[in-house]
Parts: sequence; structure tokens; C-alpha cells
Amino acid sequence: MPAWIPGSYLMREFGRQIETLSAHDARQRPVPLGKLDRNTWQAAPCKGPLTLTAVIYCYDLSVRGAHLDDTHGFFNGTSVFLRAHGHEHQPCLLELVPPPAGSTRTDEPWRVHTSLPEATGDPEAAPRHGFGLYRAPDYDALLDHPIEMGTPQTITFEAHGAQHEMVFSGRIPGLDLARVADDVRRICEAQIALFEPESLRAPFLDSADRYVFMTFVTADGYGGLEHRASTALLASRGDLPAVGQGGMTDGYRTFLGLVSHEYFHTWNVKRIKPAAFVPYDLTREGHTRLLWVFEGFTSYYDDLMLLRSGVIERDDYLKLLGRTVAQVHRGPGRHKQSVADSSYDAWTRYYRQDENSPNALVSYYTKGSLVALGLDLTIRQATDNQRSLDDVMRLLWDRYGRDFYRSAAPRGVDEDAMAALIAEATGVDASSFLAQYAEGCADVPLDRLLAQAGYQLEWQAAGNLPVSVNWRTRTQGQDLLVATVYESGNAHRAGVSAGDVLVALDGLRVGPGNLDALLQRYRPGEAVPLHVFRGDVLRRFDLVFDEPVAHDCRIHPRAATSPTTEA
Ligand code: ZN
Repeated sequence: MPAWIPGSYLMREFGRQIETLSAHDARQRPVPLGKLDRNTWQAAPCKGPLTLTAVIYCYDLSVRGAHLDDTHGFFNGTSVFLRAHGHEHQPCLLELVPPPAGSTRTDEPWRVHTSLPEATGDPEAAPRHGFGLYRAPDYDALLDHPIEMGTPQTITFEAHGAQHEMVFSGRIPGLDLARVADDVRRICEAQIALFEPESLRAPFLDSADRYVFMTFVTADGYGGLEHRASTALLASRGDLPAVGQGGMTDGYRTFLGLVSHEYFHTWNVKRIKPAAFVPYDLTREGHTRLLWVFEGFTSYYDDLMLLRSGVIERDDYLKLLGRTVAQVHRGPGRHKQSVADSSYDAWTRYYRQDENSPNALVSYYTKGSLVALGLDLTIRQATDNQRSLDDVMRLLWDRYGRDFYRSAAPRGVDEDAMAALIAEATGVDASSFLAQYAEGCADVPLDRLLAQAGYQLEWQAAGNLPVSVNWRTRTQGQDLLVATVYESGNAHRAGVSAGDVLVALDGLRVGPGNLDALLQRYRPGEAVPLHVFRGDVLRRFDLVFDEPVAHDCRIHPRAATSPTTEA
């Protein structure tokens, strides 16, 4: 059984959800199974075909797992399909059987939604959206087409002639499907045009005749996982527009940004891949220093594609960009870890965060997207706007991606290849840029780069408080807890720790509802006692208030200045 699922870099040991596993031979005689390690079984020698029967617990409502109840079923192949060792390259037939009558919540028959091709030509082949036989060319493909079964709301559209299907499961009254499909179509077309400006050919046609967005909607869900011809998404009900509800909300923009991100992965990571993922070894961690390219560049283009497709306006885009800049700059960890190191250690650090992570880590998503922006601006300024990061993406696509699933010997991007590829695509030597900002821990000089492009960064304090405490708090029941203490800030200097429960500030009770109101009454430099419970021990610290810190970043066009280029 796979130990991890591509796209989510954490060991998950999917075999642990197998409740029972048994084997029998062609004459229905039991075949003993032994265990070789946590994910591997070995059957005793037997003649003829071997049949394995597994009962698997499926109640993980995430984009990475498998979930089955009386309203729907969703699974990733990594949760349910054992790999027959040595037979990875053989075609696989999958038979899907409908749930027994009376076992589902409504009488409406379930349908099947997946990008996995039906086993066309076989008498038992599944009809479109039906139960029956499906076919995968090999085990890797079998794992890469998740399947949704149930009675979801659906809509289809064509983007540059290619079929796309949107599937929404969960309860979403009044969902404006037509509006969502129209916006998503524009995003898909903008991305197809970026990679294939001439042929306008959608990337997934090498593996499937359609792309499927499968979204499960809950009260407060968020997440996505990319596949070669589909994506599994988790979204919040409130983020999706209802019929008659106009205007762009923050939530809907967030949903479209997620859709754009996962769709961009169809090129960048599902076909253009780091060499470390060619092929995926799902028994152990696949280390690469390049996730800042595969996740960071994708994070840069996800919002940029909303802008280019006309789904959002420039001001909205600048607001999103400002938020990302602010987020990256909030964490002192960015001076300790590079995005290349963060990529390599994703398995044990980025995916296993704790209260100290902002002090110790940098995100290869957010800082990676700023590296992409910095590179894009550097290339544009060095070439008088004749070249851009788009040219780098097209070269990557041409060299590694377009024929990935058609090639007998597909290649991935080598760990140290990026500088040469950028130079080849644009003529710009980016090696010192990459050494400083991707391999090194320096901040991307966006002040200078944006100024040269005619934009200005402006930093402001968040809220209207006259003083600041350099921590992050969170509410737990009636209590206000310190969630993170930022390194070298006033809370850190006073001795406060993550997990401390706030009791009193300056002798006054402090809780979830009144911290900001209390902070309004002080001036920078004033010292007050702070009482906290650490465990069940009352502790007192002397806290000295700081000046308000400018953590919010806004980006504006500079009205009086025209764009200039770098000498
Ligand atoms: Zn991603």
C-alpha cells in the first residue's frame, strides 16, 4: 500500500486503514499472507491467479483520503489499491459496483464522476457516469484518477474545445452553477493559452477525454489536491455564490484561486516534475529542493491567472499580492530557512508544523510565489518586456511536460537545472538571483523590483492599536491562549511562551473579548505585569509595549511614474 499520496508530502501509511486482508487461489483455497513491513504483504506460493480481498475503513473527509457514507463515496486510489509488486506497468481494470438498494440516503441512483476512462470495448464497460468497468494503462494512472460517487450537482463546459466537468457534493442550496462554470472556463482558457498559445490544446487530453473538478462542500472546508486530469477540492459553502448573488466576495475569490491553483498543476507538477518524482516512489519520502518551483510558481500563477482571465480586477490582484507579501514578512523563520531547504524538508517540517514554525520555517508556497514574482519582474526588466516567466514555463512544458505520459522514458527537472533553463528561455542569467532568494534566505527585493515596474509597497500597522505585543493568540473555550510567540519580540523578551493562558494584564482580567480594548489604554514603552497560567502554575511577567508594527502591506500603482526598465 502507498505510504503517501503525490501532492501531499507527508507519510500517511494508507495501509493502516486496512481492517482485514485475505487471499485465495483459483480454486478458492485460502493462501496465507505474511507481512514484510508496514505497507507490504507477501502471499505464500500458489498456482494460477491470486485474489486479494480487503476491507478498508473509509471515513476521512479530506482531499487525500477516502470517504463513504449513505450520501456519497469518494476515494483516492492511494487509499484503496494495493500495488502488485513487479506488475506496476500492466493495465488495470477496475469494476465499480453500485451500493445495494436501500443503503443510500435517497432513492436517486448514484452516478460516477471521474476522469478515469471507461473500459470502452469491453461488454461490461461502464457507461458514461455509470457503474461497471474502468481502465487504467498502469498502476500509476490507477492511483491518479480519484472517483466521486453519489448524486452531486454538476455542470459541464468546454474550454478551448476540451470538455470540463464540475461536480459539487454536499449540501449547497441555491448554488449558481452557471456563474461558477463561466468563471472557471475563463481561468482554464487563460492557462491553456499560456502554455499552448498556438495549438490551444488542453494538457490532460493525453490521459482522459475530460477534466473533472470534484468539490466537496462543508461549513468551513478548504483544500485541494491535483491529479493528471482532475482535482479534488474541499470548499466552504459560504464561499460559493448563490443564484442572484452578484459581486465578487473574498470567499468566492478564494475558491477561484484554489481552482486556478490546482488546474495549473495539470502542467506544473503533474507533467513538468522534479526528477525526484520520476517515477514516484510511494514507499518512502521523495526529497526535492524544487517545491518552490512546483508549488511556489503555481501559487504565483494561480492569482495572476484570475487577473489575466478577467475574473478579478487589478486592484483585487494587488490586494492579494499585498497579503502574500505581508504573510511572508511576518515570519522570522524566513531568515533561517531557504525555500529550497523548506522544499527538501517538507515531509518533516512544513507538513508537521507546530507553535514555533513561524520562527523556524519559511513556506515554499508563499515565499516561492514571491521568488516567482521577483524572477518575472527581473526577466521583464532585463529584456524590455520581451521575455517573462511565461517563457520559462513554456520551455519547461516543451522540454519535460507535453509528452510526459506518452514517452517511454519521461524525464524530470534536475535539482540544479533551473538557472540554465531560465537562461535558455529568456537569455537572463538568474543564477545570483536564485542563489540569494531561493537557495539563500534573503528577502526578494520587491520594493526595488516593483518600483521599477511602476508600483509602490506601503506598510501599515494592522488595526488601530497604539501599542503592539508580538504574539499571536487564539481562543479556546472561555480562554485566550498564546498561539505563537515571535522570536525576539516583546512577549518573547518578557518570557511568555506559546500555550500560556492569559489571565490578567496590568492587574485586569483579560480574555477573548477584551484584549484589544485594554491595549487601547497604553503607550509604547510602558511596562505592565502580565499574569498567565502555564499548565496550572500562575506566572507573572513584565511586558513592555512596543510601537505598533507595520505588518499590513498594500501595493499601489505609482501615479506619477511611468514603468522603467533596469539598466
Ligand atoms: Zn499546490
